Amino acid sequence: MKKKLFLLTLILSLSTSPIFTTKPTLVCEYEQRMREQGLVNIQEINPSILVELKYSTTDNFVGKDVYGCISQCFLQRKPAEMLSKASDILQRKHPNYRLLVYDGGRPLSIQKILWNSLPQYSTRERVKYVASPAEGSIHNYGSAVDLTIATTDGTPLDMGTKYDYFGELAYPKKESYFLKINKLSQKQITNRQLLRSVMRSAGYMPIDYEWWHFNAISRQKAKATYHIIP
Ligand SMILES: [Zn+2]
Repeated sequence: MKKKLFLLTLILSLSTSPIFTTKPTLVCEYEQRMREQGLVNIQEINPSILVELKYSTTDNFVGKDVYGCISQCFLQRKPAEMLSKASDILQRKHPNYRLLVYDGGRPLSIQKILWNSLPQYSTRERVKYVASPAEGSIHNYGSAVDLTIATTDGTPLDMGTKYDYFGELAYPKKESYFLKINKLSQKQITNRQLLRSVMRSAGYMPIDYEWWHFNAISRQKAKATYHIIP
């Protein structure tokens, strides 16, 4: 009995000793908060989906890593399941293609950083590229995704512009015009159409201004269904 008590005391003293308490924490608070809000890591839903969060690198329009510790893509469960379905549809048609996700659920605090990084644009112009934090982006509700198609090794297909290209060449509604004046090739448009087709088949809606952005639900419905990610 005494021996057991000694062992218990030893374990307790070790567990509160500096060896245990100074261990660096590996939990990203932003990611933890998204999990607590019910969002899911899309790679846990479908590990074949590739993820490269551009705002977690310096390769984005701000030129800075604005995501810090966020490295996984989180979405609300329903949109995540829809994305998984889009991935399955794509791979059935093209076994060597993968969805490559650039962004998903995005905290409102980061939406403000993105908004404030474009002072050169008027509010009217700016909303074409970044949703106003006052209004809230559908990304802030974990119900929108930015993505492209890549080959299995992660090489993105040619979509005619880079992700977050600010200009009309990225507008899906102007593709036939840019094809006519040879600013977009038929191949680039076909690649974009394939992305839209698989996303639509899974229930996602494309938008007029960005070939890479898709909404799982409307802003109104997102606001009524989910809490904003703070
Ligand atoms: Zn987007």
